[in-house]
Amino acid sequence: MAKIFCIANQKGGVGKTTTTVNLAAGLAKVGQRVLVVDLDPQGNATMGSGVDKRKLELTVYDVLLESASIAEAKTRADKAGYDILGANRELAGAEVELVELERREARLKSALAEAAPDYDFILIDCPPSLSMLTLNGLCSAHGVIVPMQCEYFALEGLTDLVNTIKQIHANLNPDLQIIGLLRVMFDPRITLQQQVSDQLKAHFGNKVFDTVIPRNVRLAEAPSYGLPGVVFDPSSKGAVAFVEFAKEMVARIGSMK
Ligand code: ADP
Ligand code: MG
Repeated sequence: MAKIFCIANQKGGVGKTTTTVNLAAGLAKVGQRVLVVDLDPQGNATMGSGVDKRKLELTVYDVLLESASIAEAKTRADKAGYDILGANRELAGAEVELVELERREARLKSALAEAAPDYDFILIDCPPSLSMLTLNGLCSAHGVIVPMQCEYFALEGLTDLVNTIKQIHANLNPDLQIIGLLRVMFDPRITLQQQVSDQLKAHFGNKVFDTVIPRNVRLAEAPSYGLPGVVFDPSSKGAVAFVEFAKEMVARIGSMK
């Protein structure tokens, strides 16, 4: 039965999508069966997995509106090594349409319950907001992975996210917990980044993942080839770090209740 994780952070451009597709590819590499759910209307995780969002007949939008199952709507990201439930601009409309519907925050959860036996990991790439879409992600998940850059305002943004997760934990999804904070785009030569990293460890202790993802241009280049960095250039520093992170996740999940 799959463990389900949201990759979330209300900030844009912090590395959510890069983390989703590379963790997925890393997990696939170490033998895990993975489904990626693209919950962002931008469809970056879809394109970055080598699936053309403009050519999809069924997407996560149809699943949220219950006109298709995940089994019907998913696509195989062949080279990346996992399945993906894609997204495109149509998903932006779901935000408004869901408001009118019953169980509006639990639609993805019901659909994933059906798909869960087929996978070891389900990774949900969230949009940069606390919208109905993100709420659907957080209500479905066992845990949240928070990618963050070690910058001055990083801790401030984190307080909002932690409070939101606490509220959802209390009211909608008692399973939900923060699995960990992932330091991404890290450059050890920048003193401020080292300081923020130390602060994070002081505040959050073992909620900070041991693995650190370095700033690495190969990770940024990979999406234009329709591949996660882990597959595009397996020997690059970024790819090696994400495979390490996949192993760390497998080990953490083994010890999860
Ligand atoms: P989000 O999904 O949070 O908006 P992305 O994963 O799309 O963020 O990342 C934002 C930008 O930063 C992208 O252009 C991506 O290629 C780049 N990027 C992400 N992680 C790294 C990294 N470790 N090294 C270099 N560039 C990165
Ligand atoms: Mg993104």
